[in-house]
This record gives sequence, C-alpha cells and structure tokens, in this order.
Amino acid sequence: MTRHLARKRFGQNFLVDEQIIYQISSLFSNQLATPQSKDQQLIEIGPGRGALTEALLKHQTPLIALELDRDLIPILQTRFSHHRHFTLQQGDALQTDFNELAENKPMRLVGNLPYNVATPLIFRLLENIDNIVDMHFMLQWEVVARLCAGPGDANYGQLSVVVQNQCETKALFQVPPSSFSPAPKVESGFIAITPRTEPLISKEKHRQFNQLVKTAFAHRRKTLRNNLKKLLSTEQIESTGVNPSARAETLSIDDYAKLTELVKS
Ligand code: SAM
Repeated sequence: MTRHLARKRFGQNFLVDEQIIYQISSLFSNQLATPQSKDQQLIEIGPGRGALTEALLKHQTPLIALELDRDLIPILQTRFSHHRHFTLQQGDALQTDFNELAENKPMRLVGNLPYNVATPLIFRLLENIDNIVDMHFMLQWEVVARLCAGPGDANYGQLSVVVQNQCETKALFQVPPSSFSPAPKVESGFIAITPRTEPLISKEKHRQFNQLVKTAFAHRRKTLRNNLKKLLSTEQIESTGVNPSARAETLSIDDYAKLTELVKS
C-alpha cells in the first residue's frame, strides 16, 4: 500500500479497532437487507484508508465513498476498485450536492466524521433532509451528547433543539481514543440521526424557528425575556404558557414551536 501520513487538517483519526468496525457494520447488515434498500444509496463520508468501507462493502450494497484528501484516492482505488459495488468520489462534503451524488435516490449516510466538519455538515444535511433515510456518524462524544440532550440537561442547547426538531437522535455507543490512530484527545461516540416523517415545526417556519432558538440560547445566564426582547414581548411569551423568567435550556421543542408562531415573518 502507498504510504500515507495522517493529516491533522483533514481531521484524520483512522479507525483501527476491529470490534468497533464490526459493531458499526453490523448496524447495517439487517437494515440493508430490507426490500426497499435496493432503491437507496449508501454514502460513506470520509472513507480515509477504507477501514469502514471494507466492512460496509461486505453487505453487497452499492456504496459511494466521498473523500476530500486527494492522496487517499489512489489508495482507496487500489483497495476497492475491483469491487462492483464501489464508487469513489473526490470532493468536499461541505460543498457536495448530495442529491446529485445519489442521483436523487433516498440516501443513507455513514461516516467517521472529521470533528471540525461534523456540525456544519449536519446543518447542511438538514437543509436536504427530504431525501435522507438516516445518518449514522462517529462524532466527538460531546457533540453526540448535545445532539441527544433534552430540556434541563447541561448539554441541551441550540444544536439539540434545531436538530431534534427535524430528526430523532440516538446515541448508540461510546468509543475510546484508543480505537483510532492517531488517537484523538477526546472520547467519541456513534450516533443514529433519523429524519422525522413530519418535522415538529412546519418547513415554512424553520428559518424563524432556528433564529428564535439561536437568540434564546445566545446568553445562557439570561432569562428568555431578556434574550428574546427584540423578537417577542413579555406578554407574548406569557400568552404561550412559557414563563418569561425561565432560561432557554428549560424549554421543550414544543415551547419553541409555540413561541415561533408569534414571531413576525
Ligand atoms: N473512515 C475512516 C476511518 O474511520 O478510518 C477515516 C475517518 S477520518 C476521522 C475522517 C476522514 O474524512 C478522513 O479520511 C479525511 O480525509 C476525510 N475528510 C475530511 N474533511 C472532509 C470533507 N470536508 N469532505 C469529505 N471528506 C473529508
């Protein structure tokens, strides 16, 4: 194999733990066998040197691997180009039109994501959620905790509310630094993110909802009344049954939905 040194700027922490690779791949073995899966497109974001790719290809399902690092392309080609289900695309996941890549097929996305790319990528994918069946990602554990947190939880914040409005999130397992090479400084975790059939807020209101949530969490120590004063009056907040003296982290997504209804478009 061509020699390749892990690059920090591409967030390269390669999975080397066979048990974890098996655990991830097993999640797909049953689900990929479902009848509708033939019409779906599995996409791996950031295949790296192919640790997960190899395990996924064993399911005999077409797989598109999207990799940014040009130096990894020949390595991946050599390793998998003989495989009839393998397609390799060089490119940046943050710039990619995923619908085009998947030829408008419903997508299942999987990846051990570079930490600096994970959050912007998830926000970007939310904009195209209609065509996504599910997403399974390895992320920094702290981000997994934030994505799965509920009201009152210390990790509950803008990311939790905005993502959970459109998706169900489930932390599947925690992964120690020793499962990667080079080992990252922090714990990681594997998460399932599944789009809701109906988002809790109608699509037309998403922009206002996201803006309201961002403003509500802008200063965590301040009350809602203070954070939201440019958007809603104290009386308006009260009219929804929400206490204006409460703090953003105590409100449910439903509370945010009710408040959004009152924000002028
Ligand atoms: N899947 C491999 C594994 O588990 O061993 C590699 C995971 S490594 C954490 C992240 C991978 O994503 C690297 O191969 C890196 O080059 C690639 N990558 C980084 N930024 C990317 C981007 N914007 N778009 C696509 N791939 C990216």
